[in-house]
Amino acid sequence: MAPYCDAQAQFIKSVRSSMDDNAKQFLQHQDWRNIQPKTARYGTASKRQLDASSFYVKSVACFVPHVVIPGHVPICPRCESSSKVDTHGTNVRWIKVPKTLFGLSSHRYLDTKFYWCGTCRKRFAGYDKWSMQLSAKVWLGYFPFNLSDRFAVDDELCSFIISCANDPTSTIHKKHEQMVTDKHYQDYQCYLYLVRIKRIRSRGTSTGHSDGQLRIDRIYEPGMAESASMRKLRLSRERLVCVRRKLQTEQTKLDSGLPFQRILDEKNNRNNLGARLPYLGVSKLRKLIDMGITTGNELLESDDPHIKWRLKQTLSNYFESVRASIADLKETEEECTTQMLLNEFAVENDPVAAEPAARERQQQPAAAELPPTFSKLDDSDGYNGKVLSWSQINAVLRTQFAHRKPMQDSKLRGLKATMLKIDFQYKLAKKTRVWKRQGESYRPFTCIVTVLNEHGLCVYWRALKSSESMKEIEDDLKKLD
Ligand SMILES: [Zn+2]
Repeated sequence: MAPYCDAQAQFIKSVRSSMDDNAKQFLQHQDWRNIQPKTARYGTASKRQLDASSFYVKSVACFVPHVVIPGHVPICPRCESSSKVDTHGTNVRWIKVPKTLFGLSSHRYLDTKFYWCGTCRKRFAGYDKWSMQLSAKVWLGYFPFNLSDRFAVDDELCSFIISCANDPTSTIHKKHEQMVTDKHYQDYQCYLYLVRIKRIRSRGTSTGHSDGQLRIDRIYEPGMAESASMRKLRLSRERLVCVRRKLQTEQTKLDSGLPFQRILDEKNNRNNLGARLPYLGVSKLRKLIDMGITTGNELLESDDPHIKWRLKQTLSNYFESVRASIADLKETEEECTTQMLLNEFAVENDPVAAEPAARERQQQPAAAELPPTFSKLDDSDGYNGKVLSWSQINAVLRTQFAHRKPMQDSKLRGLKATMLKIDFQYKLAKKTRVWKRQGESYRPFTCIVTVLNEHGLCVYWRALKSSESMKEIEDDLKKLD
């Protein structure tokens, strides 16, 4: 599956079709390295309504060598010649999923075409590294991306990382993360502005079936009554998937030929006590690997006199059991497939089963209603069931206070005071003590003194050991002056 949303897929498709139609005209006002989506999202003068999904659409770098440099025919990386390379025709097609091209603040998609070499009768991608290297003179200074097997990095990000080369990787990562955070915060402000000036198209009532978030009340809907034959079909399908998965696992076991290193790793991991093949101990496995025998298959084929027959017997028993279970599973798979086909046939001929589909069709044209009003705070179905509990709200308040404490302190210290008003309050009752351990307790304070300035703002406060003692705060009061 492509790693992007539908809106992005549509944009990539539209770029591809305009490149195919008339690339020359299309690239006249566009840089192939950064083809941007048309929605004028930052233009605030326009009154055009925007769809929320358009914010997720990233630009595309569309690398089609024979178009980007007219007349250039890419060189085949296998036979190293361009004489029989097709740039048009049925064998030339777009790649399946564009590469993710990482940049400094966001990413793009690097798209290209597969070319066809008539000599080798094989395809190669437009950004094939060896092919570009063969025509290096053409691309020098023109192709500013760095490629890996699965991703690409653009020039900005590359130069950022290279210029930070003397920093530790963690610092580079941190810096970059901060930059990206800033960028997203700015984007977010811009989006909020667009929402405020009502340029975002509202989505209409969420039915819970659209691309948006699923609502919890979907579960409470009067579910489509499942007829007996439908249920049978569903169960048989699930069973078939399950059997196929098991079969695949067994098949890979057989194909891998039992690599010893993996068993060794398993046995070394203490979470896997009682791993398979108890006869093959760790020391035995190590010895075998040292001897150059790395898999079970190799051991069975080897005729080394040091290898005991019992070991070979164990392994051949193991492979036998895997083969037997594969044969069993194959039989079960066949049975399940037949069963499923029969069930499918039954559902098609079942008049009751066809009914829910018709009912569903009837229900669909019921959009364009007002959005639902806000639910009560204690309504567990509202807000998608995401209601903050009382204790959670309290926790938020408490951590908020913890974050604000230093700021409040510095505010307090910044206040000026010429007149001082002193008050002793929050006196603690005599019997209130903090318990440390048996027989040991103490009074944390006896009262709290607050000093207000002429505007009634608190400029100083402190918990005191003795009640209403001016002596204890004398030094502080001098400093306040
Ligand atoms: Zn070739």
